[in-house]
Amino acid sequence: MKVVHIAFECAPMYKTGGLGDVIGSLPKALASHGFDPLIIIPKYGWVKHLPYLPGSRVPVWYTEGKWFRYPNVRHDQRIQAPKYAHFAMLALDALKRQDFKPDIIHCHDWHSALVPYFLKHEPDAFFAHTKTVLTIHNIAFQGRFPLSYLNHPEIKKAHDLFPPQTRRISFMKAGVESADRVTTVSPHHAEEITSGKVDFGMTTVIRRRHEKLIGILNGIDYSVWNPATDPLINGRYNKETIFEKKGENKLKLQKQLGLEENPGIPVFGFIARLSSQKGIDLLLPLLEHLPERRLEVVILGAGEKEYIDALKKLLTENLKRWLSVTIAFDERLAHAIYAGSDFFLIPSHYEPCGLTQMISMKYGTLPVAIAVGGLKDTIIDGKTGLLAKEATYDSFTEVVDRAVSLWEDQPTYQKMVTRAMEEDFSWEKRAKEYIKLYNLVIYDV
Ligand code: ADP
Repeated sequence: MKVVHIAFECAPMYKTGGLGDVIGSLPKALASHGFDPLIIIPKYGWVKHLPYLPGSRVPVWYTEGKWFRYPNVRHDQRIQAPKYAHFAMLALDALKRQDFKPDIIHCHDWHSALVPYFLKHEPDAFFAHTKTVLTIHNIAFQGRFPLSYLNHPEIKKAHDLFPPQTRRISFMKAGVESADRVTTVSPHHAEEITSGKVDFGMTTVIRRRHEKLIGILNGIDYSVWNPATDPLINGRYNKETIFEKKGENKLKLQKQLGLEENPGIPVFGFIARLSSQKGIDLLLPLLEHLPERRLEVVILGAGEKEYIDALKKLLTENLKRWLSVTIAFDERLAHAIYAGSDFFLIPSHYEPCGLTQMISMKYGTLPVAIAVGGLKDTIIDGKTGLLAKEATYDSFTEVVDRAVSLWEDQPTYQKMVTRAMEEDFSWEKRAKEYIKLYNLVIYDV
């Protein structure tokens, strides 16, 4: 079966978050099941363009267009709108030019969501037997723009496919309404967006398609995320050797970041895009009291200025030995944090799936999170991590206190770490769920 994945990022070529990980790994897992996957991403001026996904024969195509030369400035709507409308058109053109007739076109997030809209509103004989799937990785980002932003000669066709009286368009809405199937990245999040608990103005649109909606958890690529083979960490370990080896990684991390070098103090890692979704507001008040609580926090993130400023302000003399803040996108440091921390903080207000909890579990670093979206589906409270009931400061502080008590009870802590490392979040397992879905779509059942 030929499945084309269309997305705006794909690790390791270009990655800003979890979507990059997914596009860099799901197609590989599909290939190992005998599928013929293909990936299409934009050709950005500043990324390395590998012809295949590393470690596989999955081809990666790059669409070229004038808007891709501009760096990805999320807020510049006058560029974002034509850029991704053009991307959708170019992806379809490339398939036709190469005479590659897919069984499934699998689009990811709003950036490629116009593909199903185009195929529905301007049926093309070439794609007569092609079905479309749209996966919502983050419903907060929808690609909402005035239609006039598509008023460029290169994308006139896209502009004219919307009714003339249209003033504003939403790429995500157009995609949800047009795709043969819609998925999101965890079963619990599928419920959240259908019930309106996570809304972002999409509930009505989602409800209209709820029979075609399904939640499938993401996986992680264990050839990248595995403490036994990870080339980016110091002391490699597995679940048999973790309690001898993890300490090496922890001490190195504490030293590298100028923290109190003490194996007895629990280290809590935090790696995320710095945006309101990730619950930095719940974390900030806690950070002020690290010395009294006797815990260390290591933060790695890039994103919104408001959060960068607030975090930097906390780096006083008093906190320097307890709190480390690195504002960057740094793959190497991320691996060192997963390996060198004892716990991993995920105070997200909403989390469609979340990959960091699955990665940290593999590294024997217990996630301390809030019971939302995919976090609820993947963390077993008291067994493979700790979950706060709701995204409030009190609830989150309480769960951090539970983590500290757990740390003091080392036999229970170690039992949970071993259990967490045994969880299987491999793509091999998840790919089977997608394969089932693709078959359902193709046979239209
Ligand atoms: P999201 O997709 O919402 O950003 P996920 O939890 O799904 O969140 O995935 C985040 C991915 O991005 C993980 O692989 C995480 O390690 C990585 N990541 C996030 N921020 C950084 C950063 N500043 N440096 C390195 N890796 C990061």
